[in-house]
Amino acid sequence: IPKDGVRTRFAPSPTGYMHVGNLRTALYTWLIARHAGGKFILRIEDTDQGRLVEGATEVIYATLRKCGLTWDEGPDLGGPVGPYIQTQRRDLYGKYAQLLVEKGHAYYCFCEKTESEEDSGDFNRAADPCRDMSLEEARARVAAGEPYVIRQKIPNQGSTTFSDAVFGDITVENKTLDDQVLMKRDGLPTYNFANVIDDHLMGITHVVRGSEYLSSAPKYNLLYQGFGWEVPTYIHCSPVMRDQHNKMSKRKGDPSYEDLIAMGYLSEAVVNYVTLLGWSPRGEYAEREFFTLSELAEIFDIGGISKSPA
Ligand code: GLU
Repeated sequence: IPKDGVRTRFAPSPTGYMHVGNLRTALYTWLIARHAGGKFILRIEDTDQGRLVEGATEVIYATLRKCGLTWDEGPDLGGPVGPYIQTQRRDLYGKYAQLLVEKGHAYYCFCEKTESEEDSGDFNRAADPCRDMSLEEARARVAAGEPYVIRQKIPNQGSTTFSDAVFGDITVENKTLDDQVLMKRDGLPTYNFANVIDDHLMGITHVVRGSEYLSSAPKYNLLYQGFGWEVPTYIHCSPVMRDQHNKMSKRKGDPSYEDLIAMGYLSEAVVNYVTLLGWSPRGEYAEREFFTLSELAEIFDIGGISKSPA
């Protein structure tokens, strides 16, 4: 585990096209690392194979490069350095899931559930016969070739509190959290599991992501606790809206970096504009409207990130 100061990561899923809201997350993540003289990691989260969009990864690389968001380290995959690709790390997640089962914080589940039941969070853990099955029986069924998923075992009682640098402390009752799937039937981890494992293994100190993940954060905290790992600093960012009611979406063709360039805007102007969508410079810079990327890196602070949607 690297221990060399601030380490951030941009962790996009190539399940659609990168809109300016995604670019803003990448910018904040990069700026926090560069401001601190730390490392910026790029991690492609491609474990949801059914939802991959062809060409999306290339758009991510190209956008980051054109904006000047250089990334550090990673296995040598032909680029200057990195990035990390989760499907190329597939063998390591199962091992951690089994460790969690042994520690009593996860269990093998053999129930047939449709995808929509999983997605809607309808899963009723009290009624699941697998939750309290002995590990011996579960292992025998796995050995017999029965298909299974591995689920997180959320405590029935108590509450979980997590801290977010933008939203403050948030406490939720454990009984409101679902026993989410960690490992899928296809042997790949879910995003919900892989992000915790990789953030830990990559020594990530600051996790920047969209506020749509706030409701999952308590479950991630319980995973960190289950392993006995330190929780990173969370920085959840409010969405960039396409209009008054809808946030930008990878599927709806909302504006990308390339769209803005095609409209005639200069790359530096796009980078400046997107950064200022939800972050305000303070003090002597409060009135200034234009910053270069390196000026932004110099003055960027987490305290200037807004809680309100942009
Ligand atoms: N892979 C997630 C996405 O593209 C990012 C969440 C995260 O940064 O942890 O939405």
